Amino acid sequence: MLNELMTIPVAEWNKLKQRATKLALEKSNQQLVMQLMRKMGEASGLENVIDNMLRSIVDVIGGANLILYYKIDADIFYADVYGLKKHLQQLDDQRVSNAFTTGEASEYEHDFSDTQMLTPAFTHAYTWVYPLKVGSTMIGVFKMESLHVAMRDLHNQLPLFFNYAALVLKNEILGHTRLQHINNLLQQEIIIRKQTEQELLAAKDEAEAANRAKSIFLANMSHELRTPMNAVLGFSQLMQKDSELSPAQRETLNIINNSGKHLLKLINDVLDMAKIEAGRVIIENGNFDLGALILDTIDMMHERAEAKGLELFLDQSSSFPRFVNSDEAKLRQILLNLVGNAIKYTQKGRVVVYLRAEDLPDNQQCLLICEIEDTGIGIAEQDLPFIFDTFVQVGRESYQQGSGLGLRITKQYAELMGGQITVASELDKGSSFILKLPVTKVEQSEIINKLVLDGKQVLGLAEGQPVYRVLIVEDQLENRLLLKRLMEFVGFQVFEAVNGEQGVEQFKRWQPDFIWMDRRMPIMDGIAATQKIRALPNGDKVKIVALTASVFTEQQQEFLNAGVNDIVSKPYREAEIFALMTKHLGVQFIYDEPVIRKNVTEQLLNDERLKQLPEALLSELQQAAMSLDIEQSLVAIEQIKALDAQLADVLAERINQFDFEVVTKLLSDADI
Ligand code: ADP
Repeated sequence: MLNELMTIPVAEWNKLKQRATKLALEKSNQQLVMQLMRKMGEASGLENVIDNMLRSIVDVIGGANLILYYKIDADIFYADVYGLKKHLQQLDDQRVSNAFTTGEASEYEHDFSDTQMLTPAFTHAYTWVYPLKVGSTMIGVFKMESLHVAMRDLHNQLPLFFNYAALVLKNEILGHTRLQHINNLLQQEIIIRKQTEQELLAAKDEAEAANRAKSIFLANMSHELRTPMNAVLGFSQLMQKDSELSPAQRETLNIINNSGKHLLKLINDVLDMAKIEAGRVIIENGNFDLGALILDTIDMMHERAEAKGLELFLDQSSSFPRFVNSDEAKLRQILLNLVGNAIKYTQKGRVVVYLRAEDLPDNQQCLLICEIEDTGIGIAEQDLPFIFDTFVQVGRESYQQGSGLGLRITKQYAELMGGQITVASELDKGSSFILKLPVTKVEQSEIINKLVLDGKQVLGLAEGQPVYRVLIVEDQLENRLLLKRLMEFVGFQVFEAVNGEQGVEQFKRWQPDFIWMDRRMPIMDGIAATQKIRALPNGDKVKIVALTASVFTEQQQEFLNAGVNDIVSKPYREAEIFALMTKHLGVQFIYDEPVIRKNVTEQLLNDERLKQLPEALLSELQQAAMSLDIEQSLVAIEQIKALDAQLADVLAERINQFDFEVVTKLLSDADI
C-alpha cells in the first residue's frame, strides 16, 4: 500500500488537490450529497449498486482504496473499488470488526514523513472506518484507506450521504435475500420436479417391466391353456370319425366338442384382451377377398341363426369393394363378434347385415360401412355408454352369456385399424351396430391364392401317393399322440421325438419328408432344432411346419427366420393340418363329403315327422322345453326314441346344447 502511495504521480496528486479545493468551495452539503446520490441511483441489483457506490465515493473524495464490508444474515462479504468481491470466513481487520460491534466510526493516521516521498506535501495519510447503520441495525462498514489529510474537511459533510448509502444497501440486501429466497424456492422446485421426473421414469420402467412380465405370463398362459384344449378338441374330432360310435356316444362327443370350442373362445377373448392391454396387438395388413370373408362369416353364423329360428340376411350394395387391403383376421373377428352378438341377443325376428362403401378423398381408399341390425332385446339408453367397457354385460341377467369382452376387443381392433364402431339401440325393439373402416382397394390380381380350408373330412391318401415319412417333434404326450394318430390314420409313416435334440437325431437317422415342429420343448426348443436341421445335409429339402400356441406375431416371425416353411397355431383344425401337407408336399387325399347338419333339422320340419307322434308326448316335451328343463325334456325324448329314433337323436342333441328355442319353435310350427 505504501509503495502504491509513494508512486502517485504529481499530475494525479494535483488533480486530487484541485478537486478537494473545488469541493471545499462547494459550500452546500446538500450539493455534494445530491451528486453522490444521483450517481448511486444509476445502478440496480446488489452487486451493481455496491460497485457504483464505491466508485462514486472514490470519484468524489479520492483515496487509494475503498472497501465495503457488509452482512447478509450471518455471512460477511468484502467488496473493494477494484471490483474484487469475496465471502469472508471472518473479518480480517480489527478496526472494521470494532466498527461492526460498536457502530462507531474511527480514523487512523499514517505518518510517511520519514520515507522518501516523491511528493513532499504527501507526508500524512489516514484510514477512515465508517459504519453504515439504519437505525441501530448495522448494515456494513466502509474502510477508506490512504486518504489525504485534506479530505478531513469533508468529514462533516458525509454522514448524510452514508446514511443514505446504508439505506440503499439495506434495501438491496433485502431485495437480494428475497430474490435468493425465491431462487432457492425455484431451485427446490426444480429439484422436486427432477425427483418427480425420475420417480416417473422409474415408475414407467417398472410399468414396462410389469408389462413385459405380463406378456411373458400371457405367452406362457396361452401355451398352457391352448395346448390341453388342442388335445380335447383334437381327440374328440378324431373320435367322431369312428363309424362304430353309438348315437349316444356321438352326442356326448358333440357336447365335449362344443363346450371345448366355447371354452377356447373364452380363452382367446381373455388372451386378446390382455394382448391389447399389454400393447402387443399388431395390425397385419394384406390383400384379401372381402366378398369371400363376408360370405364366410354369414355362412359360419347361418347355422346358429337357423337353430334359433332367426333369419340372417345380407344386403350388399354394389359400391362394396370386392378386393381390399386391411387386416383380414381382425376384420373377421369384428364381424363374427357383431353378428354373433346380434344372434345371441335376439329371440325372434331377424338379423340383417347391410354393407356399403363411401369413397374417400384418396381414390385408392374407401370407407367400409357394415351395419348389423337385429330385432332383439335391445339395450337400455342408460346402458349404452358402457357396453364397450371391459367385462360389462347389461340387461336382464338371464340373457347374459359370454365374457363381456367381445365388444371391447371389437372396438379396440376397429380403432387400431383406423375405424370406429357406434351403436343405436332401443330396448325390446333391437340394436344396430355400425362399423366404419377405411380400407385400400386392390385388384383381384393382387390377391395371392390362399389355401382353401373347407370342412371336408380326410379319409386317407389318394391312390398312387408315396408313403411320406413324417417326423413329429413335440414334448407333450397328448399332442404328439394326436398328431401321430392323424398321420397314421391317413397312412403316413410316423417317427417321433420328445425334444429338439432328439428331433435332430431322428432327422439324421430317418431323413423324413416332413416335420411337425413344436416350439417350446425342454433341452432344445423348436427354433434351435430347426436351425440345426437346416444346416445338415438334406436339411434344406425337408418341409418343416411349426406348431405354436403362442399368440404373439413376433414369436411367429422368429420361427420363420429360423427356417420353417409355415406355422400353424394350436389348437389347429384337422383340415388345416392336411391342407398344409398338401401345400408343402403336394400330397393328395381322398375326402368325405361334408355333412350338412342343418339339413337334417330342415328335413324333419318338412316331412312332418313330428306330427306322426302322439300329441300327449309332444306337449310333454313342449312343456319341458319351455321351462328349460333338460332332465324332463330328455325323459320325453326317450319315449320318442321308441317311435322315431332319428328324430329323437336330433331333438336330444339340441336339448343337450341348451337349444330350447329351436325345439319349442319346431313344436309350435308343427301346431302342437
Ligand atoms: P358378451 O360376451 O357378454 O356378449 P360383449 O362385450 O360382446 O360381451 O357385449 C357386452 C354386452 O353388450 C352384452 O353382455 C350385452 O348385454 C350387450 N350387447 C351386445 N350386443 C348386443 C345386441 N346385439 N343386442 C343387445 N345387447 C347387446
